[in-house]
Amino acid sequence: MNVEFYGHVRQYHNLKAEIDANLHAVLESGQYVMGPMLKRFEGELAAYHGTKYAVGVGNGTDAIWLALMALGIGPGDECITTTNTFFATAEAIWIAGATAVFVDSDPRTHCIDPAKIEAAITPKTKALIPVHLYGQCADMRAIRHLADRHKLVVIEDNAQGIGARGDTFRIGELSDATTISFIIQKNLGTFGDGGAVVTNNAQLDAQVRKLRNHGSDKRSCHSYGFNSRLDDLHAGILSAKLKHIDAGNDQRRTWAARYDAGLRGVQHLTLPHARPGYRHIYHLYVIETHQPAQRDVLLQFLQDQGIDAKCHYPIAIHQQAGYPWGKAARIAGPIPNSERNAATCVSLPMFPELTAAEVDYVIAKVREWDQQAG
Ligand SMILES: *Cc1c(COP(=O)(O)O)cnc(C)c1O
Repeated sequence: MNVEFYGHVRQYHNLKAEIDANLHAVLESGQYVMGPMLKRFEGELAAYHGTKYAVGVGNGTDAIWLALMALGIGPGDECITTTNTFFATAEAIWIAGATAVFVDSDPRTHCIDPAKIEAAITPKTKALIPVHLYGQCADMRAIRHLADRHKLVVIEDNAQGIGARGDTFRIGELSDATTISFIIQKNLGTFGDGGAVVTNNAQLDAQVRKLRNHGSDKRSCHSYGFNSRLDDLHAGILSAKLKHIDAGNDQRRTWAARYDAGLRGVQHLTLPHARPGYRHIYHLYVIETHQPAQRDVLLQFLQDQGIDAKCHYPIAIHQQAGYPWGKAARIAGPIPNSERNAATCVSLPMFPELTAAEVDYVIAKVREWDQQAG
């Protein structure tokens, strides 16, 4: 059996009527950039998050650095985040001209460890940028508490967790801005690139709107700005898909529970940790080998069995060639948990359109590996 890692085409076939109708509406409207479909989707996205504003931008990376820039964070400033995340989290910080400062992650959730943040704060620190890694919220209550005490802004990099929740908090509630990626492989993905910033801060919203559109909020009048907009065709696709995001996330949770039950008792692997009371939406279902040396063996074994398993992310940001890129990045203290995560992680296929037979096949093959692993 072959089990793919993504279900993009299956999802398109399931939602074809709604997606095609929206695409058709945009094509017939004659308005393709900053048109009515974008406006509609921005309204729907803000309503979904329970925030006042949402602004569509070109991609999730731009969402982070445009939010940073709109908040006045740039050269000479430091932003604290983690190194076991997609490269773009740090990339966005130095595109804004600031320095990424990495602290360690929690060994179980793999999100930023709030207990490690305080020691990394310097007079230059301006922002905390937690990542809701794999689709599970970081400990936002502790992060907000630290931010208040040290007068820092908080930006949630929520490229991976749309629809996730904390126990007592929603995404967007305890931060200054939340950034989203709509690249196809994310839970809410368009057929291409897209991103957004959601916020309750009117000034921030207005500033990002200006920055994304050549510094213009009035025809022919410009200040410093860029071109980073969410096209109306993508907004139409996303508007159709947003209606199904909760059902899709519920189905991911169902498959995660099936993986959990099917893999219970394995000897050589650690299963994902879902924090009690949190709604983890399993953008990725990541298991870890106990021994770093076993990771590539497991990955190869699964691939040989037709299972398209992957790693997120096998090379942590500070392990990439060229680190620390001048003054762009630095590590605050040892980060063993993030390094271990990079060395041991394996992502199993996870998307709503999987079948029970596919999930069971993956479970059977992972168990087979586990039994023969020394
Ligand atoms: C995908 C991702 C991004 C970047 O989003 P793009 O739309 O690809 O620019 C940023 N941060 C995290 C954690 C991501 O997973």
